[in-house]
Amino acid sequence: MDCLFCQIIEGKIPSDLLYQDDQIVIFSDINPQAPIHKLIVPRKHIATMNDATAEDAALIGHMVLSAQKLAKQLSIAEEGYRLVWNTNKGAGQAVFHIHLHLLGGRVLHWPPG
Ligand code: 5GP
Ligand code: ZN
Repeated sequence: MDCLFCQIIEGKIPSDLLYQDDQIVIFSDINPQAPIHKLIVPRKHIATMNDATAEDAALIGHMVLSAQKLAKQLSIAEEGYRLVWNTNKGAGQAVFHIHLHLLGGRVLHWPPG
């Protein structure tokens, strides 16, 4: 499949891999928007959050809790961090394989724009 993140998961495109298990991989964003910018990506190809179903509930829960764990490991849990799912073009989604952004290491303004 012609999907950038599937190719990263398969190791065909290199990445700065931080963590992997049977359900997810975590790597650094190539164009970081904050001092810490990691991507939590399911091995399962799901194009957008609109395509997730009840069958994916445990997987999505695992992604969120893995992000929380990583935030603690990276020592940004107390100061604060942001978890973001961009969904479709109007929200800035560029890679159509769902991914959870973990952003931190600076003050994150609101509204995000
Ligand atoms: P989206 O805009 O779809 O929510 O997020 C896609 C993210 O993937 C962007 O933050 C972008 O910088 C990142 N990205 C795009 N291509 C690559 C790549 O080849 N490697 C890595 N590590 N990140 C990428
Ligand atoms: Zn994919």
